[in-house]
Amino acid sequence: MLKGIVKKTVGGFYYVKIPETGEVLECKARGKFKIKQKNILVGDFVEVAQKGVNTWIIEKICERKNSLKRPSVANVDKAIIVFSLKNPDVKLFMVDKFLVLSELNGIEPILCLNKIDIVEEEVIGRVAGVYKSVGYTIILTSAKENIGIEQLKDELKGCFSVFVGPSGVGKSTLLNRIQPGLKLKIGDLSKKIKRGKHTTTHVELLDLESGGCVFDTPGFSAMDVSCLKEAEVDVLFPEMREHKSNCRFRACLHYKEPQCGVKNAVKTGLIPENRYESYIRLLEEIKVSRRN
Ligand code: GDP
Ligand code: ZN
Repeated sequence: MLKGIVKKTVGGFYYVKIPETGEVLECKARGKFKIKQKNILVGDFVEVAQKGVNTWIIEKICERKNSLKRPSVANVDKAIIVFSLKNPDVKLFMVDKFLVLSELNGIEPILCLNKIDIVEEEVIGRVAGVYKSVGYTIILTSAKENIGIEQLKDELKGCFSVFVGPSGVGKSTLLNRIQPGLKLKIGDLSKKIKRGKHTTTHVELLDLESGGCVFDTPGFSAMDVSCLKEAEVDVLFPEMREHKSNCRFRACLHYKEPQCGVKNAVKTGLIPENRYESYIRLLEEIKVSRRN
């Protein structure tokens, strides 16, 4: 039995890369996966066995760290959340939504503030300061001027990543800086979503020459928060976790309740105001979506 990684699937075939030799095997799935409706996903670690000269069968899917839907991928280690403060001016609420979704899926988020060449240093410093204080990694880049690309490459080494973020922030440009000529469907996909057409996307896990692999489509969008429940949102804000124990009520939503440890921490500056505002806005969005 050989161990490998599913790099892409096309028409019932699975292309499995064997890390030791670098070869890619064209495999079929064992029938039992189909019977149990268990899909083999791009990103899966699998075991394959040879059944003929050029016939390989996937015998086993190893336990997944996580999996995402639309498009379905498995074992995502890091989400590179790309945003910009000009052209387009991405609202921090959207950035916080992407952070929440990363936390929810057990993916380490890495913030990438791109287009720093067109924004004042002081503004960049303020935003970066907020997210550093929460404990997140933030990389400042300019894909245009080739700034921060080495740091970004280092972050991608040794893991499977997805690039997420609204369209126009520079995801494709950044990935082309990391590796010129990388086949990307990120831009295409967002255009297709905008047009509202149903398209079957076929995902691929691409190897980077500088190390690591990147899924060639975004793993999730900021719209996906509707699955959340109000009571589980606070744990997705790491800076709130340590202050929750100071709340008078155990089921405190840190909203209108009195004697709230989280609200006190906002007042004393221990929790950034914009992060708390995002939290409240998210609670309200969830409330509204439940009513509909
Ligand atoms: P995507 O939709 O996130 O993939 O964004 P693109 O990579 O297509 O970039 C959108 C636009 O922003 C393009 O016109 C890029 O040339 C431009 N762009 C990308 N990175 C930078 C940057 O660092 N600085 C500036 N000024 N423009 C950039
Ligand atoms: Zn509270």
